[in-house]
Amino acid sequence: MIGDGMDPIFDEMKKVPVCSSLSKAVSLVCGSEAVIVKKQPVHGGDANEAYKLFLSDGTTLFLKANTLSNIDFFRAESEGIAAIRSTGKIRVPTIYARGKDSSFSFLLMEYIDSGREHPDFWEKLGFDLASMHKADTVQFLSKGKYGFESNNYIGAGKQKNTPKDSWIEFFSECRLRPQFMLAEKYFDSTIIKSADRLLNNLDKFLFEPKRPSLLHGDLWSGNFMSDESGLPVLIDPAVYIGCNEADIAMTELFGGFDRRFYDAYFDNIDMVPGYEERRELYNLYHLLNHLNLFGSAYLSAVYRIIKKYVTTS
Ligand code: ADP
Repeated sequence: MIGDGMDPIFDEMKKVPVCSSLSKAVSLVCGSEAVIVKKQPVHGGDANEAYKLFLSDGTTLFLKANTLSNIDFFRAESEGIAAIRSTGKIRVPTIYARGKDSSFSFLLMEYIDSGREHPDFWEKLGFDLASMHKADTVQFLSKGKYGFESNNYIGAGKQKNTPKDSWIEFFSECRLRPQFMLAEKYFDSTIIKSADRLLNNLDKFLFEPKRPSLLHGDLWSGNFMSDESGLPVLIDPAVYIGCNEADIAMTELFGGFDRRFYDAYFDNIDMVPGYEERRELYNLYHLLNHLNLFGSAYLSAVYRIIKKYVTTS
């Protein structure tokens, strides 16, 4: 069902052209005369190669590139950006085109000229994220309340978004269980039993939200930037409809954002008491994903969190 008066995201996604070469994508954006005169590597990402492109007509563009076999990353990223954009609550870069060249896949988007953070940067990020979390979500799912219309990626890991009516079931079946299954080679039989027990007792810790929220899904400090006015822009999402707490928990996973972000966020959204007790359970998903992608350095944190919740269940 499409919500009244809201832009169906799939209409917007259809507007992102899929091109059979980078030069075709560039001419589509800037006209047939425009050619790339310089390609400057941009560092800071973790899954793709990134470049600032300088064109002959003076335009700059941002290019992400990966192998041909990873082309689906860019389908997922452009859908995620389209979903966030459709809420109208927080800035994301404009996506111009995606496609395949002879030896790579690519995503071409607006180049954000990053400026020094505005004094209100953190308040605005907190306020805008709360607004996005409060936005109506009916446009994103044709059935179910949680999930997304398509699967996507969390870093380089696959993220399953099968729609469910229950948040707890979604978090169990589409978030923790697939990661537990991938991580089994790291686990002994005791921890496998504990993981099973945790999955069977999630309703003791989590709750069914009053309002589902569109989540960024991968909200760590590498996935937002400041624009030319020093104001926030979200990048590189792993969107789905879920409980807002999952996004906030992730912001705290690697040290936390500036206090002003949390003050603005919590002032603008109704939180259910007890978030702090649920935080590590949400972050277990990301730690398991890190374990599966990067190896055993994350095992002790995963063990600790599983044991913590199983002991109290
Ligand atoms: P990855 O998918 O590899 O994680 P990111 O999307 O995080 O890549 O992008 C890598 C880096 O490029 C970011 O840390 C950011 O500094 C910069 N960046 C991302 N998007 C843009 C953009 N639209 N304009 C300018 N710089 C960008």
